[in-house]
Amino acid sequence: GHPQRISINLYLYGKGRRLMLTREVTALELAEAMRRDFVANVSHEIRTPLTVVSGFIETLLTLDLSAPERRQYLELMGTQAQRMQSLVSDLLTLSRLEGSPVPGVGEWIDAQAMLSQVVSEAQALSEVLGSGPHQVLAQDGPALQIAGARQELHSAMSNLVGNAVRHTPAGAQVRVGWRLASDGGAVFYVSDDGPGIEAEHLPRLTERFYRVDRSRSRETGGTGLGLAIVKHVAQRHGGQVLIESASGQGSTFSVILPPSRVLLS
Ligand code: ADP
Repeated sequence: GHPQRISINLYLYGKGRRLMLTREVTALELAEAMRRDFVANVSHEIRTPLTVVSGFIETLLTLDLSAPERRQYLELMGTQAQRMQSLVSDLLTLSRLEGSPVPGVGEWIDAQAMLSQVVSEAQALSEVLGSGPHQVLAQDGPALQIAGARQELHSAMSNLVGNAVRHTPAGAQVRVGWRLASDGGAVFYVSDDGPGIEAEHLPRLTERFYRVDRSRSRETGGTGLGLAIVKHVAQRHGGQVLIESASGQGSTFSVILPPSRVLLS
């Protein structure tokens, strides 16, 4: 028989306009197109820092060993090497998340302990960032334990706090906390009073490599994979990511976990 066809919307952007095309494709065609798109993105993301590094190597080779500019060039190369390192590390994280079984409910993680660790790491990051320091504040929440993969949940929350610090100016306030949801689940949130995000971007933010501002995100050390990782972690725990933001009004990113993952202590 005929493979099932799905209707997809393709968005083409240009000169402030958006064109939507609706196409019928099979699931296989869609998966293949997404894979190609992903490989193209990864190649592009790696090529840019690699070009910079090779360029500086060529320049360094023409310089005298005692030339004073050497140090500056080496520092710039170091930054680009770090960019490639973060990218590879996030790619590995994503592929591990996709390939490994859903975490069981064997290990209980204390919400307070996890978040206070995330907050102190974010404070340290905010001190070294060019755009820092920020006020990273831990908010109190009810005593509760979460069943899940400790490292994954920690990295999801670190990504959110890291984003709040990297995408807001010095002095911005970042609140990190948790509360019970009405259904008995738990909401872990990171709220900032930064520039916020326009509504049109919100549905696409958790896509791999989607950024509101490409060059700015790279400047701040982002790989464009952070929110994709957060979404994977949330979904693997039966939960979801909620993004609330408006231009000029700050942003709140939440990981919402279902009641089956939450134990009141
Ligand atoms: P990146 O490495 O670029 O931060 P992410 O997947 O973590 O990649 O985030 C995607 C995009 O979402 C960012 O490039 C940025 O445009 C936007 N974003 C994420 N968090 C915030 C925030 N707290 N405030 C404003 N914009 C944000």
